[in-house]
Formats: sequence, structure tokens, C-alpha cells
Amino acid sequence: MLTLGIESTAHTFGVGIVNDKGKILANVKDSYTTEHGGIHPSEAKKHHQNVADKVIHEALIRAKLSLKNIDFITFSQGPGLAPCLLVGMEKAKELCKELKIPLIGVNHCIAHLEIGSLLSKAKDPVLLYASGANTQIIAYDGGKYRIFGETLDQGIGNFLDAFARYMGMGFPGGPKISKLAEKGKDYIELPYVVKGMDVSFGGILTNLKQKFDSKKYSKEDLAFSAQETVFAMLTEVSERAMAHCEKDELVLGGGVACNTRLQQMARIMCKERGARCFVPENQFLVDNGAMIGWLGVLKYKSLKGSTPPLNKIDMKPYERTDDIEVTWR
Ligand code: AMP
Ligand code: MG
Repeated sequence: MLTLGIESTAHTFGVGIVNDKGKILANVKDSYTTEHGGIHPSEAKKHHQNVADKVIHEALIRAKLSLKNIDFITFSQGPGLAPCLLVGMEKAKELCKELKIPLIGVNHCIAHLEIGSLLSKAKDPVLLYASGANTQIIAYDGGKYRIFGETLDQGIGNFLDAFARYMGMGFPGGPKISKLAEKGKDYIELPYVVKGMDVSFGGILTNLKQKFDSKKYSKEDLAFSAQETVFAMLTEVSERAMAHCEKDELVLGGGVACNTRLQQMARIMCKERGARCFVPENQFLVDNGAMIGWLGVLKYKSLKGSTPPLNKIDMKPYERTDDIEVTWR
């Protein structure tokens, strides 16, 4: 059994082809980037429309398959930017009609968790999901994936991107901040904002902008201090979630988890508490079609053939992780 998974929640149009054993036969993507400024939803939508057919075609070539080998299509229903989600959903429905095969819609955040579990063979992990728009600490408890902690304002990736943008760099800014941070020498005191199990980045961003404008500090030291502060916050709440849930596996997910300093902090924390830390390859940390395909496989199997008709399936831009009934565990 094979599915073709489509990801299009934000900047990335991704297509993955996955079989029912979790073998990933292809994982191809094309991402919208800018030289200056952040994501413009209507520009990202145009990008996705332009690359959709090419990315699907390339994934089929990588997998050495043709569309008629695909048993069902999976798409990312949300959360995400509506104009971007729409491109993925329309493409998915078009393929389903053409091939007369079912469509499965899945939650993007849970897909990050499930691909991490698949690749790491973790049994019951806590997920630190650190991406552009989302920052959540997620774990399974009593039939649902629950959010144990999350950002109270913007996602950590958006925070890094906004700071990079303020310093005159384009999108995505996370990798640029990371490069700068490697050259930072002195830690500059910044607000550290953990409220219970939640985090917040807005105040830190304002503080960083003021410090940047004051011209008293180097970009390198500001980038270094920003990373040290916000990654420590994430590591702290992850550790508390692990202690609270009595779980001893941590999986990282989301584009910001590509950051080697965040990975290092998470590994040190896990080692100190005798837990295991799993970091999937970068191509599975960032938004990708393979994770959508794999969650599609899990959900499809649990439906035992009773897949919903196409006209009953819609995108869900504001869907929350803990709204999903987990039928596959
Ligand atoms: P996602 O939404 O999961 O695809 O992740 C995209 C976000 O990851 C963007 O905000 C990027 O700036 C950020 N990102 C990607 N690579 C890195 C990195 N090495 N360090 C920090 N942030 C990163
Ligand atoms: Mg994501």
C-alpha cells in the first residue's frame, strides 16, 4: 500500500511517498524564500501553485513509480496559512478524482511527532516541536496528543526570522542567526520568559531590537545571546514535561530543531536525566511530505476502509493538536 503525502501549510510545498511499513520512497520539496522580509501568504500560494506539479513528478521519479501505483492521497489539513493549505488540498482532490482513490487529511503538528517516532523507534516520546509558526511540547496522554506547554505569542522560528529581518537579513532567518551566533563571544543579559509550562518571545524580540538599535552590541553577540536564552527556555519546559509525564524519550521536530545548539542543549538535558534524545535528519525536521504520508498511513489503517467522501473533507487552518482523536495508537 502506498500513499502520496502533500505538505503545504506555509513556506514549503513538499511531497512524500511512503508505504504501509513506513518505508520512505521519496521526499521532495520546494520552499518559498525571500532576500528581504518574511512570508507573504499570497506569494507563498503562488509559489506552491507554480511548483506543485514539478514536485509531485520529481517524487514519483525518485520513487520509481507512477501515479497509478498510489493507493490514496494524504494532505496536510492544518494548522497553517489558508491560501497555502488550499493549494495542497485542491491538488490532492484533483489527484483523487483523476485516480479514483481516497483522500486522507491529517494534522501537521502530529505528523512531525509521528515521523520522529517512526525514524527513531521511540515508543512514547515527548515532542519538542519548534518550527516557524508553532512551538509546542506535545505528548500522548489518555487518547489524545496533549500540549503540555506552548508559546503564548509567536512561534520560535518566527521570532528568529523577525529578529533576522530586523537586522536586514531575508527569510528564513533562523540559519542566518545560527551562523552569526557561532561567532558570538559574550552573553548579553536578555529577559527569560517561562510562564508555568509556556514560553513567550515577544518581549525578548522587543528587547533585542532595542539593543540592536543602541549600537552598543555586535550582531554576533546578540544572535548568540538570543539563541542561548530561547533554547534554554525550550529545554527547560521540555524537561518539565518529561518529568510530569514520566516519559524518558524526547523527539525533536520542526525547522528550528535543525539548530545544532538547540540539539546540543536537548541532548545534555536528556543525558542528565537518563533519557534518550532523538533528532531526525534535517529533511524530516523541516516541513516535508514524508511525514504527512506516514501519518496518512497510520490514519488510513485505523479507518479500516471507511474513508470519508471528498466533499466532506476540508482544510482546517486553526486545528489544534489536542482536538484530534487519535485512532491509530
Ligand atoms: P518549519 O516551519 O518547521 O519548516 O521551520 C521553519 C523555521 O525553521 C524557520 O523559521 C527557519 O528560520 C527555522 N530554521 C531552519 N533552520 C534553522 C536553524 N539551523 N536554526 C534555527 N532556525 C532554523
Ligand atoms: Mg512544521
